[in-house]
Amino acid sequence: MNYSIKKQVNYSFTGAVSKTKAVLAEEGFGILTEIDVKATLKNKLDVEWDNYVILGVCNPSLAYQALQEEKEIGLFLPCNVIVYEDKGKVFVSAIIPTVAMKMIENKSLNKVASQAEEKLKKVMDKISSKNQDEKTRKVFDLVCGMELNMSDVTHAFEHEGKEYYFCSSTCKGHFVSDPDMYIGEN
Ligand SMILES: [Zn+2]
Repeated sequence: MNYSIKKQVNYSFTGAVSKTKAVLAEEGFGILTEIDVKATLKNKLDVEWDNYVILGVCNPSLAYQALQEEKEIGLFLPCNVIVYEDKGKVFVSAIIPTVAMKMIENKSLNKVASQAEEKLKKVMDKISSKNQDEKTRKVFDLVCGMELNMSDVTHAFEHEGKEYYFCSSTCKGHFVSDPDMYIGEN
């Protein structure tokens, strides 16, 4: 059973998390929880895992309607949106609320779930269209000085809250070893 609306994006992982949060907010979703799965697995089990975050998101008025229909619905709240890395690719995925609601036989609840689904679909469409615009954005590789389309960026690195982009692992490696030297030059 397909239970997710999933999109591959060409943002870096941290870029994808912040874009996803921004679009969710634009579409009226609050972010109630944020679970860093990678950090949790590392802390609890000392295992290495890909970047992976679970966002618990909620549209207050839809949640209120759902709770009025069925008090136990809290078991399905909030809706989850995940951002994760798999083999170097970054994905954003949202649960399909109507699929989750199939377990519960309540017609008026399905209506609320459909509304939530419409909103989440809009969020996912917005993320992928912003991502399309992003692909043609020009950035500079501060190491070799090359101008790159975002779609040609193969390596990214976050330094002091800002993202830097590179044409190759070599350029990234130089940057990582001494970021201030390259930032200082510009
Ligand atoms: Zn380069």
